Amino acid sequence: MKIIIVGAGIIGAALADALAGDSDVTIIDAGPAGQGATAASFGWINASFFLTKAHFELRAAGIEAYRRLNLPGPDWSGTLCWDVDGAELDQCFSDLKGLDYPVQVLTRSEVQKREPALHNVPDRVLHFPSEGAVDGERFTQSLLNRAFAKGAKLWAGCQVHRLLRDGARVSGVETTFGRVEADLVIVAAGTATAALLPEAVRMQHRPGLILRTRPQPRLINRVMVSPKGEFRQLQTGEVMMPLVAGHQSTEAAPIAARPDLLADVAFANLKHYLPQITGNWAQVAAGNRPVPQDDLPIIGPVCDGAYVAVMHSGVTLAAITGQLVAQEVLGGQMDPMLAPFRVR
Ligand SMILES: Cc1cc2nc3c(=O)[nH]c(=O)nc-3n(C[C@H](O)[C@H](O)[C@H](O)COP(=O)(O)OP(=O)(O)OC[C@H]3O[C@@H](n4cnc5c(N)ncnc54)[C@H](O)[C@@H]3O)c2cc1C
Repeated sequence: MKIIIVGAGIIGAALADALAGDSDVTIIDAGPAGQGATAASFGWINASFFLTKAHFELRAAGIEAYRRLNLPGPDWSGTLCWDVDGAELDQCFSDLKGLDYPVQVLTRSEVQKREPALHNVPDRVLHFPSEGAVDGERFTQSLLNRAFAKGAKLWAGCQVHRLLRDGARVSGVETTFGRVEADLVIVAAGTATAALLPEAVRMQHRPGLILRTRPQPRLINRVMVSPKGEFRQLQTGEVMMPLVAGHQSTEAAPIAARPDLLADVAFANLKHYLPQITGNWAQVAAGNRPVPQDDLPIIGPVCDGAYVAVMHSGVTLAAITGQLVAQEVLGGQMDPMLAPFRVR
């Protein structure tokens, strides 16, 4: 079967890795691979944030699916979370426990033993030991490299202008370099997905900004979720922090202020927890999250010859998306986990 995947972000790359070898895969991207939302991502792999039970189950399966990928890159050191307290923390703990999710409540001294550099920690902190983080851009390249080894091909710098339609059927794509026929076109074009499939997908506009410090000596090991925002330290030593707290939530605040001014505020918040950080913030980067209209992923057939995979938290969901879509496309079996996330 000849398959075209539109988009070489982390979702397109995970699809290519899962489908290559058993089918003839061509990935087409308007730019270089991994430079869309994937490059702008915070990179947290988690199921502790979720919108519905089915969404939780997909995210939790997403963590397991990463492990099955068996590729280096993700750091599974877990998450410490104190953006809730009191009764809200108890509720969050019992909700996640009720879902069989790995969760503990740590005391301040237990946190300090694990993360001695962390300041201003409250009495009780949630710990999600199965969670992790990954550099989306680098991991996308690893997925693509494995797909290439199985025969997949990437056309970078090639825009897909539209899908070719033969009555109700999609038969390929029209690109910068002409028409390409395929048995199946999978659109994984992030925020641009709606432009190619307006009948199936509507997207929100959800910009985000993330700062990075200059490289620091190793300070922390886990993803931190504080009331002042999430932060984590990369392999490079840089500390990364979105400029708004709760950046994974469904709130879609427009970015009205200048990024450097927002970064000054976020950096002061970061220093509250890590006063040892030297220098000022170094970089601030903007990106647009690919968020479908109702916040939930869309993964499924659109019509004969066309399939779509678009979602926020695509870093968390990349591995499971690749695995479930391959099972459906190659084996004809739709996993029931995908049922709530079909084209709506
Ligand atoms: C600031 C921010 C923080 C985030 N934090 C997290 C997080 O902590 N955890 C998490 O799980 N998720 C997070 N996300 C979301 C996550 O990054 C995305 O859901 C994920 O990267 C989406 O991957 P993708 O492959 O679908 O899209 P993209 O990475 O955007 O890739 C789409 C690709 O399609 C290509 N393309 C588009 N249109 C065309 C066309 N017509 N022809 C050819 N190519 C085309 C683009 O060039 C691009 O390379 C965050 C996102 C942002 C912006």
